[in-house]
Amino acid sequence: MYPSRFSYEAPTSIDEAVELLRLGAGEAKVLAGGQSLLPMMKLRFASPGTLIDINNIPDLAYHRADADGTYRIGALCRHAHLEKANGLAEIQPTIAAAAPLVADPIVRTRGTFVGSVCHADPQGDWASVMIALGGSVVAQGPDGSRSIPVSDFVSGPFQTVLGFDELAIEAVVPAPVGDRAGGYLKLERRVGDFATAGVAVSIERSGSSVARAGIGLTGVGSSTIDASDAAASLVGGNLTDDEIARAAELAASASRPRSDHRGSADYKRHIVATFVTRLLSNLQLTNQEAA
Ligand SMILES: Cc1cc2nc3c(=O)[nH]c(=O)nc-3n(C[C@H](O)[C@H](O)[C@H](O)COP(=O)(O)OP(=O)(O)OC[C@H]3O[C@@H](n4cnc5c(N)ncnc54)[C@H](O)[C@@H]3O)c2cc1C
Repeated sequence: MYPSRFSYEAPTSIDEAVELLRLGAGEAKVLAGGQSLLPMMKLRFASPGTLIDINNIPDLAYHRADADGTYRIGALCRHAHLEKANGLAEIQPTIAAAAPLVADPIVRTRGTFVGSVCHADPQGDWASVMIALGGSVVAQGPDGSRSIPVSDFVSGPFQTVLGFDELAIEAVVPAPVGDRAGGYLKLERRVGDFATAGVAVSIERSGSSVARAGIGLTGVGSSTIDASDAAASLVGGNLTDDEIARAAELAASASRPRSDHRGSADYKRHIVATFVTRLLSNLQLTNQEAA
């Protein structure tokens, strides 16, 4: 199917893009990698009056760590930039683990990290990763910029709190409290598919004790799930078998999967518990090796 008729703008600055969004009065849409928006337009699930292509705005294709450890991912950083980044596993293990599991190499070459968070697909991998990391999105609108925690940013399936006149300019991961460890596991029917279920875990340790934890769940609810009770249950402990079992149980009960062609709801809940156990047990081993 062909998309509906639309006009096309290619701003060369953030201010220009924001002004075009304002003028679009809710009928304009940002085009980043186009890997979700264009299929939606072809299927006529989206029919924006204007496409605002941000690919000509310079200096948005970055991912970098600030001196204090804050990590920033610009609006034109592609999935492939993260997949191929040297040394990322040492500073951002959860991001490094998820990057090669997002879609397929063609999609990863064009699609952007920030676009994925903005798309808010319940089966999108990056929103869960950002929830696990306690990350936020920086949005720029006509009246200035604001920072929105990803747990508040995603308001429902394919919905965010972003205003129609706001451009997401970067995703921000706060500096860790102590040493950061983590990972991402995803069950997919075949390589390149969306998640049947996915789990992102991030742990920050002071010595062997957990100072901060985050767990995000992909594809097991009507939107990305923040398994905050499961994560909170780990804080202050040191990843004993009992603590891991409790967190796995809490994460599984936070999930809200539906039975479908990918598997039954019970099966998906079981996968969540298994992935949480596997990810945390792996970190437990790392802990023991470090001691
Ligand atoms: C075959 C296929 C398989 C895929 N598999 C997976 C998968 O396994 N896991 C996964 O997570 N994703 C998957 N995707 C989606 C892919 O990761 C997309 O790249 C991603 O969801 C959106 O990024 P994008 O840059 O392409 O955004 P676009 O398609 O350009 O935009 C998506 C939405 O976000 C908005 N948007 C984008 N950038 C901004 C911004 N800076 N500010 C405000 N709004 C913005 C757009 O207006 C649009 O509504 C798949 C896609 C395809 C085609």
